[in-house]
Amino acid sequence: MKRFFAALLCAGVLIRAAQASVPHQKYAALTFDDGPSGALTDRLLDALAARGARATFFVCAYRVRSYPAQTARIAEEGHELGLHSCCHDDMRAMTKEQALDDLTECMVAVSECCGVRARLFRPPGGLSSDAVRAAAEELGLSMILWSVDPLDWDPREHGRVLGRILEGAADGAVILMHELSEHSVQCAAEAVDRLQKAGYVFVTVSELAARAGTELLPGGVFRAFCPAAVDERRRLQ
Ligand SMILES: [Zn+2]
Repeated sequence: MKRFFAALLCAGVLIRAAQASVPHQKYAALTFDDGPSGALTDRLLDALAARGARATFFVCAYRVRSYPAQTARIAEEGHELGLHSCCHDDMRAMTKEQALDDLTECMVAVSECCGVRARLFRPPGGLSSDAVRAAAEELGLSMILWSVDPLDWDPREHGRVLGRILEGAADGAVILMHELSEHSVQCAAEAVDRLQKAGYVFVTVSELAARAGTELLPGGVFRAFCPAAVDERRRLQ
């Protein structure tokens, strides 16, 4: 009998140890601006597919026209497509009508390429104005900024990119990256490997918002989707 209870106790300890070693699951969104970028996009998509990670790509119309195969592949592999303007101009200089024309052209380019109707948009540099936000609202677009900026676009910062992603990662984080260099692709792959081991799951921005119970209202501006705030609201109700 004593041996039976000892075995039971031992099993309980083992189960608790196993539970403790499973990291708490967290969710984050990797986002890639300024693409698609041809072969570099293919390498990034290969790296994401190998790791079962999904991401969101904010694309420019002129690049979608240059790389239709990669744009279609982004959609086919379950990633999300958002708009990043027509030609990467500073949108603050645009009137509402100009912003409407610009975003519509980008939306049509994506739609003609892969049949996707974009719901998200990120202005170049994250820079916008009331006119740009009004245009986005009229087109049913939500503005997605970020909560982690590793400065991967700047070659002088390359030594610090991975560290910034790992330090900035949090449940509900939106991580800003760019499809501009092999270094960004390598950092993204390494960050996914390290963060998956820490319990992170990489999902699209729309999935991250849905998981946090956040409605992506047209014209709304979002930087992150923290599930803790949702839990707090539910407790107060
Ligand atoms: Zn950009």
